[in-house]
Amino acid sequence: MLLGMRCKLSWRGVREGGAGQAAISLFALPFLTTAALGFVWRANSAPAQGAAAQTTAAIAATRASNTGLTAATPRSAGLNIVVLDPAHGGADYGARGAEGVRESEVVLEFAGQLRRGLESQGFQVVQTRLGNENPSFDDRSAIANAQQGAVFVSLHIASTGLPGTARVYVNSDLPTGPDPTGLIPWDRAQGPFLSLSKKLGDLVQAQLTQRFRGSPDVAQRAAVRQLRTTAAPAIAVELSSVIVENRNDLDRMAPGVAEAVARGVAAFRPTYVVAGTAGAQP
Ligand SMILES: [Zn+2]
Repeated sequence: MLLGMRCKLSWRGVREGGAGQAAISLFALPFLTTAALGFVWRANSAPAQGAAAQTTAAIAATRASNTGLTAATPRSAGLNIVVLDPAHGGADYGARGAEGVRESEVVLEFAGQLRRGLESQGFQVVQTRLGNENPSFDDRSAIANAQQGAVFVSLHIASTGLPGTARVYVNSDLPTGPDPTGLIPWDRAQGPFLSLSKKLGDLVQAQLTQRFRGSPDVAQRAAVRQLRTTAAPAIAVELSSVIVENRNDLDRMAPGVAEAVARGVAAFRPTYVVAGTAGAQP
């Protein structure tokens, strides 16, 4: 589930603790049109949920367990990391079908196949969850925002839609400029990345549509909560649907989805140059 009434966790009005309090200081504003990641996190994000320290630790642990990377690890220029987000988890199953299909479980399994597809294209993959935990929206975004040269892909299974189809969503319009203090608030971190997200979304959607007839031709815009706080090109991929009588009907989509996402992200790679490394080849 992803949108509106179909997903109570992902609609426009939801605010996680910390939203609007944390901010991104952009010291590379001229580069924003090319998706510079020249930002630092301002440590003023009051622990609104009393969990800031835990969050930091959890993110560091997740990153370490995923890739072994640390903040000090030098990386090559350009896009080289895909943050893969199996949505929901824990007590939040997401969409559920009458036959017991749970979105949170399916997306985690799909993530494993997507991971292998992306790695075969030379990307490092960082997952926002590896098991049945349920990180907050902000924690998941923070994992992406701590990377340099990353894109973010959130995975969902819908409760509606033509079975066997796949849709890509990018965030609808957000203000793109900094506030009067020169900072971009956490809850509109996606603003400067919207056009790049659309480009990435269209590339992935085109690959999906080749494989899953009846899918849209281009990425859709919507108010996706998870994407709004992500300071990187970010998309949500939603498959239809949990309303299958046989779980195999859904599982059969996994290899095609994995290949489509990997090829779409690979096609996006040349358009994405990280600030300070302009001119360097990915
Ligand atoms: Zn969902």
